[in-house]
Amino acid sequence: RLSKLPHHKTLEEFEFAFQPDLDTRKVRDLASLSFIATKSNVALLGPPGVGKTHLAVALAVSACRAGYSTYFTSLDDMVRQLRAAEELGRLNRKMRTYTRPAILVVDEVGYLPLDRSDANLVFQMISKRYETGPIILTSNKSFSEWGQVFCDDVLATAILDRVLHHCEVLSINGPSYRLKHRLTAIEGG
Ligand code: ADP
Ligand code: MG
Repeated sequence: RLSKLPHHKTLEEFEFAFQPDLDTRKVRDLASLSFIATKSNVALLGPPGVGKTHLAVALAVSACRAGYSTYFTSLDDMVRQLRAAEELGRLNRKMRTYTRPAILVVDEVGYLPLDRSDANLVFQMISKRYETGPIILTSNKSFSEWGQVFCDDVLATAILDRVLHHCEVLSINGPSYRLKHRLTAIEGG
């Protein structure tokens, strides 16, 4: 079961030549889904447009094809859902949306900073999934900036501690693919 994916991009559609600094071998290794067996998280880090969401979706599609239940959410949407459920006294039930799937994709960590109670909801989710099922996350922020994302350094450290205990980190530091296409269109190339 594959839920809420923004699209179904695959690894075959990813132009590795466009990101020469990307560790291709590591991507192929992730695509073999070994991270699921080792219960490792996957962190895709880098600026906008470098293909973080594309690769996260591609891994989710591979996992789904291999029979793993997979759920996709942005961090902000997850927080909104959890907060609304909490107000209705249904937090535990809603939490299962994010803890039950074999693979959880959390896209766009760090676009908006969270207040303390929202950061706390994320911490609860991370704690519940810890060493049970992998999270594939994408972020435009380096881990050292997570203190600003999750309200304070204590909460951020508690979250990072669990995320990074078992985690494959893939940093993508090349050019934006979106911008490339915009520029070639403008230049008529
Ligand atoms: P990010 O999440 O890092 O901001 P996306 O994954 O959304 O970036 O990529 C932006 C767009 O460019 C998407 O349509 C994606 O499929 C495409 N894209 C990015 N990098 C590549 C690449 N190396 N090869 C093919 N398409 C790419
Ligand atoms: Mg993205």
